[in-house]
Amino acid sequence: MYNPRFEKETFKKEVKQNVKHLFRKEIEEVSEQELYQAVSYAVKEAIIDNWIATQKQYEKDDPKIVYYMSMEFLMGRALGNNLINMTAYTEVKEALEEMGVNLNLLEDEEPDPALGNGGLGRLAACFLDSLASLGYAAYGCGIRYRYGMFKQKIENGYQVETPDNWLVNGNPFELRRPEYAKEVRFGGNIRVEYDDKGKIHFVQENYESVKAVPYDYPIVGYNNNVVNTLRIWDAEPIVDFQLESFDRGDYHKAVEQQNLAKNIVEVLYPNDNHYAGKELRLKQQYFFVSASLQAAVAKYKKNHDDIKKLYEKMTIQMNDTHPTVAVAELMRILLDVEGLGWEEAWEITKKTCAYTNHTIMAEALEKWPIDLFSRLLPRVYQIVQEIDRRFIEHIRKTYPGDENKVKKMAILRDGQVKMAHLAIVAGYSVNGVARLHTEILKNQELKEFYQLMPEKFNNKTNGITQRRFLMHGNPRLADWVTEKLGTKDWITDLSLMSGLKKYADDPDAWKEFMEIKYKNKEFLAAYILKHNGIEVDPRSIFDVQVKRLHEYKRQLLNILHVMYLYNQIKEHPEKNFFPRTFIFGAKASAGYIRAKEIIKLINSVADVVNNDRSINGKIKVVFIEDYRVSNAEWIFAAADVSEQISTASKEASGTGNMKFMLNGAPTLGTMDGANVEIVEEVGIENAFIFGLSSDEVINYEQNGGYNPWDVYNNDEDVRRVVNQLVDGTYANGNTEMYRDLYDSLLTTKGGNRADMYFILKDFRAYAEAQQKVEEAYRDKERWAKMALLNTACCGKFSSDRTIREYVEDIWKLDPVKIDVKVE
Ligand SMILES: *Cc1c(COP(=O)(O)O)cnc(C)c1O
Repeated sequence: MYNPRFEKETFKKEVKQNVKHLFRKEIEEVSEQELYQAVSYAVKEAIIDNWIATQKQYEKDDPKIVYYMSMEFLMGRALGNNLINMTAYTEVKEALEEMGVNLNLLEDEEPDPALGNGGLGRLAACFLDSLASLGYAAYGCGIRYRYGMFKQKIENGYQVETPDNWLVNGNPFELRRPEYAKEVRFGGNIRVEYDDKGKIHFVQENYESVKAVPYDYPIVGYNNNVVNTLRIWDAEPIVDFQLESFDRGDYHKAVEQQNLAKNIVEVLYPNDNHYAGKELRLKQQYFFVSASLQAAVAKYKKNHDDIKKLYEKMTIQMNDTHPTVAVAELMRILLDVEGLGWEEAWEITKKTCAYTNHTIMAEALEKWPIDLFSRLLPRVYQIVQEIDRRFIEHIRKTYPGDENKVKKMAILRDGQVKMAHLAIVAGYSVNGVARLHTEILKNQELKEFYQLMPEKFNNKTNGITQRRFLMHGNPRLADWVTEKLGTKDWITDLSLMSGLKKYADDPDAWKEFMEIKYKNKEFLAAYILKHNGIEVDPRSIFDVQVKRLHEYKRQLLNILHVMYLYNQIKEHPEKNFFPRTFIFGAKASAGYIRAKEIIKLINSVADVVNNDRSINGKIKVVFIEDYRVSNAEWIFAAADVSEQISTASKEASGTGNMKFMLNGAPTLGTMDGANVEIVEEVGIENAFIFGLSSDEVINYEQNGGYNPWDVYNNDEDVRRVVNQLVDGTYANGNTEMYRDLYDSLLTTKGGNRADMYFILKDFRAYAEAQQKVEEAYRDKERWAKMALLNTACCGKFSSDRTIREYVEDIWKLDPVKIDVKVE
């Protein structure tokens, strides 16, 4: 894709202009941050042309638009990715080099926009990249949090959270759009009114309101001139310190409005797979959903007269239950604003909304207390009541006399609003995110719903974008792939990676592949030395577990195994042991105490093991601070082993597993989530699979769990590491520091079964799988072939494939590819 703005001399001139205009400086005087801004504005200039052209084209073609609603968008840095998708990365890198500037260092000046927690938010970001790259009309809809995911510091082994003030230097790529501001109302009461035709009206009174102001971010498609929009909403007071209120002496009301606006978008809740039930969180949900829907309906009405055909031109995908209030809000707009009757409004809503389920974990299911919900959203609550009333009527008609069905499926029950039920009842599609997960939904968690409405249920296995996680994160391997395949087409068609299979038995290809891995490992080793002060050997096995810290993900199993290996080496110094570097990266939710204890344990084990000269550096343990998209990209590139060891049935899909695979790291994992499909693609001989199956786990759970004491009593090695949690080995003699972790493995407490994540139960199988990893790695050729085949077989896991499936099976978007002409 040729763009004259990226001609070297033109681009350099533009950067110098920007430096002058933005900072009143000469190029020689600016800081790296200022230069990053100047370069970003120059790139934005080029993007804006395409952005305008794309929106014009959409106006003309009038395609159906998908609104992807998500509380989280974990975008990662924009500059490098935008350059890659504009196919201008090399050009700009060289232009900057001529100015004596290193693009990679500039990229490090960009704060990582961390408007998400983990997998769910990153999925939304990958989907936006794929939608634009495939040329579909799409909006991402979300919140412009002033503070994104906290920054993690490790102090004395403990996680310390510090605020992520990502907007402190402004954001070059965003565009404030005050002309599209919308009012969003909370609380008050509903007055019923009849007009002179006898028609009923619902009037909200005594409410508080805020002004939702959108900020648009360009989503650049790969090499196709398409630029879509991520629209995230900021909150402002309706009128700054309303003069009116002052006149009436209503100073308090003005201050309250100011505070509501300030609070609502202040911070992202740092919970992952966990529901906390905070009132402000529900405000956030309604705030962005209402604003996004008002804008979407207004956009439709601008060019269409018949509101009843709304669903032909827009569809809403709800990313988990967080935006589910959209169902009732759309009804409200259709009933109260557009004046439709219930039946008409319901028909439209049912054809417009679709729902993605992300988890079966009980603690993650959103259930809002009715008193809170109805107080905050009085009109929306009335509508939910009516949806529920009609749905229950339908259940009773279908299953006469079976009140158990009502109990299981009602939306309002036990004083709660069950958001998943609302989403399923109103949605035209309900999808899981990996085959196993969807099967569990259909046969266990949502069985009653599946029996009543099987046609809604479908699977869409997650994916990741190869543009960011190979091209940008691992340029050496990306170039190698292009050379071997003789084409760059894998960038938009990852299935072509299978063309690499023919090198599976080629010793030259092995060598090249492993040399690239080695270089990436050297890079990561240098980062670790700089940030952790730990020397690691790039010839050791880089065994990596990076993801949110959660008990079900079982970082505890990993570190207990490290403790076990350490015991082995100490006890049998004569034994041949291949050196290993265990790398962790994980944020724990600020209020998740046990998760934080696990972080501390990992760091304590690191302290002991890394400083024990007697083991000759055979084991190193590294905890990488502040795991986020930017460092994730090259951690994947440097990994030998991908740890995906969740308790089977608990990880809906995982996407980290796919990023590792793409970068040539075999999976060490359980048969959980998308691991099942990864193994299917790469072959079980090219992965290390262990542990209970999801059926076995579910079976135990339905029969009261298992007895961890059986394992403890019968397995000496397990007993030893478990005891080391409370004998002071890793706590300077303190026997209480890890007592809670010890108890969690052996004692049933507060309704939680002892070892509810089956860590001890799976320990032996895990240790044996790890032994097989070591044996495989010793055989250099076998390992190279395995690693190469992982890259070669990853084609299915592109988010391009996932998006094509959403487009064809759910959204039915017009298959027209928008071909934008830039004048
Ligand atoms: C991919 C990704 C995740 C999700 O990882 P899982 O292993 O699937 O839980 C979380 N955080 C970041 C920064 C990611 O890039």
